[in-house]
Amino acid sequence: MQQDQIDRLRADPIAPVGLFIAGRSEPSASGRVVDVISPINGKKLTTIADGAAADIDRSVVAARSVFESGTWSRATPAHRKKVLLKLADLVEKHAAELAVLGVRDNGTEIGMAYKAEPLSAAGTIRYYAEATDKVYGEIAPTPENVLGLIHREPLGVIGVIVPWNFPMMIGAWKIAPALAAGNSVVVKPSEIASLTLLRLAALATEAGLPDGVLNVVTGKGSVAGEALGLHMDVDAIAFTGSGGVGRRLLEYSARSNLKRVYLELGGKSPNIVFADAPDLRQAAKVSANGMFRNSGQVCVAGSRLLVQSPIYDRFMDELLAVTGKLKVGDPLDLGSDVGAVSSAEQLGKNLNFVAKAEEEGARRLAGGTRIREETGGYYMAPTVFENITTEMKLAREEVFGPVLGVMRFDTEEEAVKLANSTVYGLAAAVWTSSVSTAHRMVRAINAGVVHVNTYGGADITVPLGGFKQSGFGRDKSLHALDKYTDLKTAWIAL
Ligand code: NAD
Repeated sequence: MQQDQIDRLRADPIAPVGLFIAGRSEPSASGRVVDVISPINGKKLTTIADGAAADIDRSVVAARSVFESGTWSRATPAHRKKVLLKLADLVEKHAAELAVLGVRDNGTEIGMAYKAEPLSAAGTIRYYAEATDKVYGEIAPTPENVLGLIHREPLGVIGVIVPWNFPMMIGAWKIAPALAAGNSVVVKPSEIASLTLLRLAALATEAGLPDGVLNVVTGKGSVAGEALGLHMDVDAIAFTGSGGVGRRLLEYSARSNLKRVYLELGGKSPNIVFADAPDLRQAAKVSANGMFRNSGQVCVAGSRLLVQSPIYDRFMDELLAVTGKLKVGDPLDLGSDVGAVSSAEQLGKNLNFVAKAEEEGARRLAGGTRIREETGGYYMAPTVFENITTEMKLAREEVFGPVLGVMRFDTEEEAVKLANSTVYGLAAAVWTSSVSTAHRMVRAINAGVVHVNTYGGADITVPLGGFKQSGFGRDKSLHALDKYTDLKTAWIAL
């Protein structure tokens, strides 16, 4: 992307956006709208429809009706593949426009957003498109007089509820395998970042997806999200977001139709640097980026840094040097390393974590304040605290902002104990030159992904998801298809 292209796109006015139901943009039944505030400058960008139970119901009826018709659910795998590949091409064709739209909505720095949002979503859609005619059913090892076939069938109507940090990337991780398997989908994006998913649904129609197969109902989580969670005709909810909302979705399922619920929740991921790390400077650079890009609003962010005593001072010098050089700025400026915090509310939460860490005796080494206030936007300096103990709030709770807590350790055993002293288990990293240490740590750490000598970047071919209170069910890889298909046995006497 070039800066002049970004500057042209950012100047485009954004017309008020409706719900996307059965292939059409529609107002909410109540006619109410929600203001969309850009975190870049705190100004109103546009409005989205304030969807509620009646709108969710309308979209589920549309989704069910097209599912029953079979135009998508029973279409040939080759046809589904063709349409999804076309959608991936369209997302790529509109990548610049989608990236800028998303950044105006949620404040992620454009360099990261361009790759992580439209380009990654296009890659994900293409991956599952290709899977449609390559995933087989099974034949059971039965006695000779019987044939046991195991069919895979789509579930029906899938509710997808996603957060605001990477709506297209995370949305595609759920929408693409669900559609590839033949389901219909109703998406409830975050009220803080809905615009790109609405655009994605319109592109899907352009690609040839039948009306009603992919619907987007915007609105508040506590209203539209709850209605989707409680709906009697939704077969599964695929959710990414906070643990609190995850718990509610399980309750909604219990109170309604026992729909399946797949939860991808938060993390407090340990990033462990051993004294024999191959390249401390590189480890510091990747650790700082892994923590502070997108203002720390990354579910797998390495927000607990564990450093072995012999290299503690040297590593911290490197880390603070890299952190100090990160340019926090206008997210639509290609020169910015870090953009805006997504909302005024999230900025307030981040600053509360800083105040509490100081009150509990942690030592602040960098950041801790709101910056660029004169822009009207929500920006925060990358923040580093040391002398963190396992009892402190900063060690226990997810900030989901640019606040890093650092601990010191001596032995491998102590590192494992500290790493696992959390209710979460989403991600981790280990920096070491020893293959044995690396493998022992991979086995010992309770997390869905353990990086070795890097942080982040795992691609679509491998699963992502949590242990413990980071959730269950996996996004990405062919394993994700299991969430959107059911197994049916045919037992045939020969
Ligand atoms: P959130 O839980 O507040 O909201 C997520 C979504 O749930 C939004 O669309 C919201 O509108 C909806 N929602 C809110 N209340 C609801 C209700 N009562 N019923 C149904 N839906 C409801 O999370 P957030 O603030 O948008 O995102 C931050 C959280 O997401 C963090 O905890 C972060 O770790 C997590 N996250 C996890 C991953 C992962 O892959 N594990 C990825 C990104 C973010």
